[in-house]
Amino acid sequence: MNRILHMDGDSFFASCEIALDKKLQGRPVWVGGGRRGDGIVIAANRAAKKFGVKTCMPCFEAKRLCPSGVLCRPHYDAYREISAKMFRVLEQYSPTLVPISIDEGFLDFSTMDQHVFRNTTPEKYVGEISERITREVGIPVSAGLGNSARLAKLATDAAKPGFLEVKPGEEKEFLRDRPVRELSGIGKNRERSLAALGALTFGHVAKMPSPLLQQKFGIWGQQLWLFANGLWHEPLLLEVKDRASISSNTTLPYDEPDYEAALTFALSEMTRLTGQLRREQLQARELSLTIRFDDFTEVGGTHRFQHAQFQNSVINTALEEIFLGIMGGQRKAVRQIRLGLWNLARLDTQPTLWGQTREERWGALDDAAQKMNDKFSQPEKPALMTGAQLALRQLDAAHLNPKAKCPFVPQREMVKKLWGTDAELDLRLYRK
Ligand SMILES: [Mg+2]
Repeated sequence: MNRILHMDGDSFFASCEIALDKKLQGRPVWVGGGRRGDGIVIAANRAAKKFGVKTCMPCFEAKRLCPSGVLCRPHYDAYREISAKMFRVLEQYSPTLVPISIDEGFLDFSTMDQHVFRNTTPEKYVGEISERITREVGIPVSAGLGNSARLAKLATDAAKPGFLEVKPGEEKEFLRDRPVRELSGIGKNRERSLAALGALTFGHVAKMPSPLLQQKFGIWGQQLWLFANGLWHEPLLLEVKDRASISSNTTLPYDEPDYEAALTFALSEMTRLTGQLRREQLQARELSLTIRFDDFTEVGGTHRFQHAQFQNSVINTALEEIFLGIMGGQRKAVRQIRLGLWNLARLDTQPTLWGQTREERWGALDDAAQKMNDKFSQPEKPALMTGAQLALRQLDAAHLNPKAKCPFVPQREMVKKLWGTDAELDLRLYRK
């Protein structure tokens, strides 16, 4: 079950100015853009918004509405530093963190309910993260939790300021009366086309026949229908070119004295990392486990496989061995669990009959497959796949559409990557 958390700084630039100058606390504050920092308002805090100050309004207008307010010039370098600090806190709470803008990111919380949420609630856990960011970084954040990145973002918007969880099974209900235009990256054209069909809210979309949406908007239409019906589950994917390792670092919400529970968490977390490994078509030769105790001492171990591995059963067996080895005789409660897959290699072919040595066989198979694919393949549709590749496709349809990690890429780019190609193209495909 996918659980994705979206975290977003509240009026980020204005909040940064307050973090930089505590004297501004409690006052209406806005940041002006333009060469002299007094052009248009680029961010305003809640106190200023109460006076009617809005982003994109000229600064003189803001001053007229709110004479007691403070205009700040932008300090982008400082904002970037504060942003980096915020993400450094966030990355301690989930191995998969996908930043999407200077003050926003998604965290994968999918394995949390098996262990972390056993003794706490998402609300408390996220509340603690938010408090920590406010305390250590000095900015307020809001958050949303749902079964996909898109839903989590809508939940944040609904929650601001604060936190909202859309519980499993309640997605459709949550979306029903929300206007479709709230969906990030929907675009004016699609919004208009949907309105022409009478679909203003997700509730309307949910009741429409899905073939109609598919015909009108292609794959996006199909996804939208699933989304509106609460059926859209999407893992948070992260793709990094030439990765050296896949790792995870989780601070438990409380110090865990029960080693069996700690092992369960480590195994489920490793299963997730292995899934990530396969999605990126990689395999690992080494794995490592480090346990930090409540007194901040650490124990750790590694295992090196003779051949690179990508199967849960093999990797988890090795992980369990390391765990039992390093935890024997220990008594202290577990505070943090760090897992790593190292020495990565491409997940490729299976050994064949050609050639004398392993390398020769692999090379021969590679060549043959390459030649056939050059001749017969269409884009995105290889004519020939190795068993591992085929198994991957069947196991994980997400592999067909690898999502990119795009730190600080403009929102629209990110959304386009998430939602696939634009509607025009899909329409042509479907008419064929
Ligand atoms: Mg924000």
